[in-house]
Amino acid sequence: MGDKAHGQAMYDLMRRLYPICRSITGNGVRETLQIIQEKVALTVHEVPSGTPVLDWNVPKEWNIRDAYLIAPDGTKIADFQAHNLHVVSYSVPVRQRMSLEALRPHLHTLPDQPDIIPYRTSYYNENWGFCLTHHQFETLPDGEYEVVIDSTLEDGALTYGECVIPGASTDEVLITCYLCHPSMCNDNLSGVVLAAQLAQVLQEMQAAGEALRYTYRLLFIPETIGAITWLAQNRDQVAHIKHGIVATCLGDPGRLTYKKTRAGEAELDHTVMHVLAHSGFDHAVLDFYPLGSDERQFSSPGFNLPVGSIMRTPYGRFSQYHTSADDLALVQPEYLGETFEMYAQVVAVLEGNRTYRNTHPYGEPQLGRRGLYRTVGGAQQIASLQEAIMWVLNFSDGTHSLLAIAERANLPFATIRAAADALLAQALLVEDTTDSSF
Ligand code: ZN
Repeated sequence: MGDKAHGQAMYDLMRRLYPICRSITGNGVRETLQIIQEKVALTVHEVPSGTPVLDWNVPKEWNIRDAYLIAPDGTKIADFQAHNLHVVSYSVPVRQRMSLEALRPHLHTLPDQPDIIPYRTSYYNENWGFCLTHHQFETLPDGEYEVVIDSTLEDGALTYGECVIPGASTDEVLITCYLCHPSMCNDNLSGVVLAAQLAQVLQEMQAAGEALRYTYRLLFIPETIGAITWLAQNRDQVAHIKHGIVATCLGDPGRLTYKKTRAGEAELDHTVMHVLAHSGFDHAVLDFYPLGSDERQFSSPGFNLPVGSIMRTPYGRFSQYHTSADDLALVQPEYLGETFEMYAQVVAVLEGNRTYRNTHPYGEPQLGRRGLYRTVGGAQQIASLQEAIMWVLNFSDGTHSLLAIAERANLPFATIRAAADALLAQALLVEDTTDSSF
């Protein structure tokens, strides 16, 4: 599959998931996971409401069937059936009549973007509300309104999905996305469909007998409380995580953006920046900051995991963010496909990055005798491979990983990896497992 086909598959899945009303708990999350299970084998966990998780408790479960307002003239407005953003997520049940005056504090609009509906939540403070376009809000007549929110907020569970693809090592690569937003695409369905596509590809590789080096763990969790719940329930597992990526906001037309790990010097940072530098795509790199998504939890000082985020335009920096305009028109298969390709290349570098020792470090081994010296000038590719062989031989002293050599040589990792494979085949390298640098 090329990145076009991946992008289309991701977009098709997004189109199916888009209408579902998700929140941090409830049937929307279960339905979403069920659809992902058509592609990917994953375990669905249900953690009961009230379970203590780190400094938090798993909240009550929220479900909604319907919500709307009936204006004094009998017209139905802010209809949940027309757009699920019309109701504030986690709204408690309401069935009453009230004046516009009394209703107004419960209505949310965007005066600066008067044609679109905002996204609002009230997770940890029992409340209710409606979201509507500012234009509609301005036309609301005085009089008595009928308010209906047919929801339930009661003891239940927090639902999340987990997909583990075992590799040769118990060292893990963690890829997380959050699935708690209702009908919005870039934030956050783009992350969900990318994680699903990546899980599918890795499961297919494993099924085809292609050995993976790392164990891959993909989490489909509600943002914040899901990460906190997973961390609370998997404290023994955390030490296995060597690299982590939060997948979000990766299907819009904006340039690729990498948000670095907390330390900023992890193997993952070098890997992603190397892949982006050789991608030919315009891109930006941001230092870690303790706002944003679940990197806040995984990189909290107690856990301090090396977790970065590969995005396009980050949350909060596109005008459609957290509104009804973050829709199926903003995200396009082409951009999803490009970003997927970056994730796939990052995985390829992590899988292939090793440290070796040159077995003939005194002088240069005679390459011609071993078929490693091209006497006939040729394609640029052969010239690069020849150059890469010299770099790998010189720097494989047990202190430079292949990625470090690729960076120093300014050659793509794949070329350096191919050179190392050619040298390994001639027993000119042995793996050095003592090195802990990247
Ligand atoms: Zn969000």
